[in-house]
Amino acid sequence: MAEPIIYDLSAPGRSGVNLPAPDVPLATLPEELLRDDLPLPEVGELQVVRHFVRLSQLNYSIDTGLYPLGSCTMKYNPKINEDAARLPGLAHLHPLADPASCQGAMMLMHDLQNWLGEISGFEAVSLTPAAGAQGEFAGILMIRQYHIDRGEPERDIILVPDSAHGTNPATVTMAGLRVQQLPANAAGEVDLSALREACSGENAQHIAGMMLTMPSTLGLFEPNIEQVIDAVQSVGGLMYMDGANMNALMAVVKPGELGFDCMHYNLHKTFSTPHGGGGPGSGAVGVNAKLRDYLPGPIVRRKAEADDAATNDNGPGCRYDWRMPPKSIGRLKAFAGNFGMHLRAYAYIRAYGGEGLRQVTRCAVLNANYLRETLRGEYTLPYDETAAGERRYCGHEFVVRGAFDDAPDVHALDLSKRLIDYGFHPPTNYFPLIVPEALLIEPTETETKDDLDKLAEALRAIAQEAREAPQLLHDAPTTAPVRRLDEARAARQLHLCCPTARPSA
Ligand SMILES: *Cc1c(COP(=O)(O)O)cnc(C)c1O
Repeated sequence: MAEPIIYDLSAPGRSGVNLPAPDVPLATLPEELLRDDLPLPEVGELQVVRHFVRLSQLNYSIDTGLYPLGSCTMKYNPKINEDAARLPGLAHLHPLADPASCQGAMMLMHDLQNWLGEISGFEAVSLTPAAGAQGEFAGILMIRQYHIDRGEPERDIILVPDSAHGTNPATVTMAGLRVQQLPANAAGEVDLSALREACSGENAQHIAGMMLTMPSTLGLFEPNIEQVIDAVQSVGGLMYMDGANMNALMAVVKPGELGFDCMHYNLHKTFSTPHGGGGPGSGAVGVNAKLRDYLPGPIVRRKAEADDAATNDNGPGCRYDWRMPPKSIGRLKAFAGNFGMHLRAYAYIRAYGGEGLRQVTRCAVLNANYLRETLRGEYTLPYDETAAGERRYCGHEFVVRGAFDDAPDVHALDLSKRLIDYGFHPPTNYFPLIVPEALLIEPTETETKDDLDKLAEALRAIAQEAREAPQLLHDAPTTAPVRRLDEARAARQLHLCCPTARPSA
């Protein structure tokens, strides 16, 4: 049933607030600043409360159900992190506050820098990038500058596998370098012979580096990672790791030790800071010794105990200060504005500790493999064998083909929309691009076996409906506040004034 919108509830003279009597003299506003008509609804307090609570309930959220959106890691965000981020002494800090007055916050950022370095095996970390894509941008700018400083400005090609996230090639282009796309082999892995070919002959001296996602966007760990890294580095290129999928590696594999030169973390994916809706993010970057002087800044430095008093610009007792690395690529934004994200990631890492993080990774990988196996038979699992012909295990996410040979009119999007009727958020659709009709599923580590079983049951039921009653899928969703939208138009022509449940035809 359609709910009344708040304007329908308006009645002249109704009011939801009682303003206190003014304690300053009344003044008259200039006529030209006043208008006769201000079309705001006049409603009581309870009506306003119900309006906004109802709106909040129209949203699907991780607090209301399983959110298997692959590549996005929509993991549970512990509420204690939210409490920490709202502590007045931290929440009300200004990014430009005098360092002497925010040593505690700087200590926290410093510890986070160190922990992220430890988790990934990198020597130095900058927290400044505001998103994964900005971390990539920082990484490629550092790689570019590294080659320029070594007198090799002709190194302008970044190799990017065809399974890469769209931000990878976009980053390369924005940084003024050239993308050379690499095909995957029949097993979905980096095609080693194509890679070696790209790193040979004339091309070799133009190789600036390679961007690689690990595990890949297919959810697959690259079995030949050492050979891949060697092929690029042996001709003078640097290796960039897109670390968006650290949920499958944390406390088990250190990319820095594998030989990567640089990577970004998505704190808003792996380290449980909330995301979605374009809110704040954090795409911290880690680097090894080759790139540490180029990091974007400023970064927090802890003064050695001995020179605390002598060299600290901020006065005695100030152990932390801001430093620009000597050859820094510069600032990426008005710095530290997303400090709340750092705080949540800090709380998350601190609460789990190393052994806890390892358990997170193990459960993320276990849950994904369990779900994948329960769907076997009902869904096609692309790249089901390694190039060596071995049985495939996935990382923290996996791809299924969201289409069936015996249900030709049904597409991945129909399956996803039908899943909404079963009470689940859909997985990622049509990504990675190299799998037609891809559904990328990431259950995350915090779901119980019971809930994974319910999701599998729903997916199996939908597969059967696709064959026997495909119209159910074409009509879906039927239980959501709105029916199937033209997504491109919905994003461009938002209906902001009519947001309540009005099932459309
Ligand atoms: C999410 C993601 C990115 C981009 O990160 P943002 O924080 O959204 O900018 C890059 N690569 C992969 C594989 C991702 O999943």
